[in-house]
Amino acid sequence: MSHAWGYAPDNGPDKWCEGFPIANGPRQSPIDIVPGEAAFDAALKALTLKYDPSTSIDILNNGHSFQVTYTDDNDNSTLTGGPISGTYRLKQFHFHWGASDDRGSEHTVAGTKYAAELHLVHWNTKYPSFGDAASKSDGLAVVGVFLQVGNENANLQKVLDAFDAIKAKGKQTSFENFDPTILLPKSLDYWTYDGSLTTPPLLESVTWIVCKESISVSPAQSNGTRHSRSLRSFPVLHQN
Ligand SMILES: [Zn+2]
Repeated sequence: MSHAWGYAPDNGPDKWCEGFPIANGPRQSPIDIVPGEAAFDAALKALTLKYDPSTSIDILNNGHSFQVTYTDDNDNSTLTGGPISGTYRLKQFHFHWGASDDRGSEHTVAGTKYAAELHLVHWNTKYPSFGDAASKSDGLAVVGVFLQVGNENANLQKVLDAFDAIKAKGKQTSFENFDPTILLPKSLDYWTYDGSLTTPPLLESVTWIVCKESISVSPAQSNGTRHSRSLRSFPVLHQN
């Protein structure tokens, strides 16, 4: 039996536990990050993100989010270091955008929401595939980056331009030669915690790595995104 889910009152996050009991589990995401309560861990390493632009394939509107997919049959685009051990391969990145600029991010910082949140999804190569890794406690590592409304961000424009071509759910178009490194903030200082996918099936398999420094998006860029997508009936976009 499949459970339809969304963000409406009758199928939104408050109802997800009916089809996915893990929604009441011990390491569910997202969370509110309270910097004053975070413990400094000197054993944590710096993040190493090595992305090969030739591994980007296409961009898809999956009905909940816009997602750029990467070839993951080799170690050309990887995440190492930080809180994880071993090598994690980039599978895809996607955005969560809100209905207005004062909300949209999934994580919050001391209760404050950002306009949007970028998620770069990687899987642990100690498992044979993304599908196998997705249910393991150390299977996935997602790097989160907040988008704050401010200056125009030229590095975002290629992605935003592609949104126009995939307005309808299920639409997809090629998206080649894109290095997501350009989307990262200057500082890769981060918060980390063990959490979950933020959409059903809500598996508790994600090591979250949330960058402290945000990137910018102009009001026009943010509005253009909101109006160019067919997803705006959702109050907030969530997708892992
Ligand atoms: Zn996500």
